[in-house]
Amino acid sequence: MAEVTQVDKNSDSAKQTKVAIVGGGIAGATVALYLSELGLDVSLFEKGPSLVNGPPICHLHAGGNLYREISDKQCLTLLAQSIDLLRLYPYAADYRPTVVAVPKHDNGSPALLLPRLKKLQAQYQALIEKDPLNEVLGASCDYFKLFERAEVELLALQDPVKTPKTLAQWMIPVAKNVDLDTLQFPLIMVQEYGLNLFRLAASVSLSLESNRNCQLLTGSLVSNLYASESNNGWLIDYQQAGVGKQLQCDYLINAAGFRTGEIDDLLGFKRQRLVEFKAAYVCRWATCDCIWPEVVFYGERGTPNGMAQFTPYPDGYFQLHGMTDNITLFKDGLVASTAHSAQPQLADSFINKIEQNWNKQEVRERTQSAIAHLTPYIPRFASAQITAKPLFGAQQIPGGDPTLRAADVSFVGSRYARCEIVKASSVLTVADAITEQLIKLGCLDKSVFGTREFTITKTVTETAINKRAELLCEKRNYPLSLAHRNISNAVKTRADQS
Ligand SMILES: Cc1cc2nc3c(=O)[nH]c(=O)nc-3n(C[C@H](O)[C@H](O)[C@H](O)COP(=O)(O)OP(=O)(O)OC[C@H]3O[C@@H](n4cnc5c(N)ncnc54)[C@H](O)[C@@H]3O)c2cc1C
Repeated sequence: MAEVTQVDKNSDSAKQTKVAIVGGGIAGATVALYLSELGLDVSLFEKGPSLVNGPPICHLHAGGNLYREISDKQCLTLLAQSIDLLRLYPYAADYRPTVVAVPKHDNGSPALLLPRLKKLQAQYQALIEKDPLNEVLGASCDYFKLFERAEVELLALQDPVKTPKTLAQWMIPVAKNVDLDTLQFPLIMVQEYGLNLFRLAASVSLSLESNRNCQLLTGSLVSNLYASESNNGWLIDYQQAGVGKQLQCDYLINAAGFRTGEIDDLLGFKRQRLVEFKAAYVCRWATCDCIWPEVVFYGERGTPNGMAQFTPYPDGYFQLHGMTDNITLFKDGLVASTAHSAQPQLADSFINKIEQNWNKQEVRERTQSAIAHLTPYIPRFASAQITAKPLFGAQQIPGGDPTLRAADVSFVGSRYARCEIVKASSVLTVADAITEQLIKLGCLDKSVFGTREFTITKTVTETAINKRAELLCEKRNYPLSLAHRNISNAVKTRADQS
């Protein structure tokens, strides 16, 4: 088999090359998966008890349609990257579309969104022509569909269907429940899927656990790093179960998420970056009896009308974002690095939330505000109840532009890489760039570039992922429904209404 030949071709130089990765979030864990599948000797350090346990990941961002403010170029990049991610982790996505609605109070209009959607659709078609396996978001002609008010009003007369197969069927719950008088028309339905944090964590963990090339060091805090003069590599001090240990490596990858600057500081490397703390809220709408698409109500970030996001999970659970200071955003939640430190300093109140707990009163108030933020659009949603702690965390944004969404990797010299993703979908771009550098160093054969065979990862079954995702949900104290998805990749969604 081709993949076996490739790994064999690499085996001598690859096995001799030790790669260490600090941080087992989606970036570090996926790069570990990628490089260990190529035969490199990888050690993955994660201070927490399990992988992908950082800030939430709930949207795939296959086209960046949740961000009006970013460039078309970033949206096209996110589209291609999301397709790559979906091909690697097909069981982590919830294959339901997203309705993009522009409220009447908003200064924008649906017509302003169309040129970009057409570009994205053409780019998706081009990617399918390049490789038919890229067709993971349905047919390109169904990438988006417009719904005028008359059509939505007719759909409001229909009963919701259990397993929607057409975009029109997906629109029925919206038609029946959303106050159409609050919105501009047409509504836009687009193939922007959900991405499930617990299923991603399960997928990458199961793959790494069965890969003998990867040493998985969870519960291991990297406390210091030094350049090793003897072999141009690195020495890593770490603490595991209270015991200080050391490991040597040839190539170091900093994937420490919002703490990436701490590792830079230990090594004396300068880097400009931002860190932002944000939260989404989980509630249950007990009387909800149908499967919803995601619904996004646009609004200007940071104002009382900031964008509202309504993200469905099974069994009536919903995750809510509200881009205002009293819901998802926080006063002083965005901080920058300085000339003296590459690590932006979040106030203790945020670090306490990340490392210990939230104040229950604040959870109640912010979740209630999130429900109230959605209620003008979906009046019946007022009966939703708080059911779980928020999904939250801090994310890094390289550079100084807080709206940057498509970011990947930077290097210092030839043996140190930083993963600087803002969205999970960018991880394979990171892995490709690091692979390119390892090829230049002679650690890998150039024939492996871009092969993406993932032989071991492909053996991980959906059943095993379900089980592990449930276990992670339980351990992290979230309702089990958050480990599940409403719609699997077996169900195709079509734009026609037959
Ligand atoms: C509210 C919110 C919603 C979001 N929604 C989405 C979304 O829908 N889709 C999306 O794609 N992205 C989303 N994001 C962004 C996304 O969560 C992050 O960009 C992503 O998690 C970054 O992954 P990472 O692997 O780089 O970092 P992290 O997930 O933060 O992982 C870094 C890891 O490094 C470990 N670590 C740090 N220092 C050390 C050390 N010294 N030793 C050992 N281990 C260490 C940490 O424990 C952590 O597990 C959201 C972010 C927030 C805050």
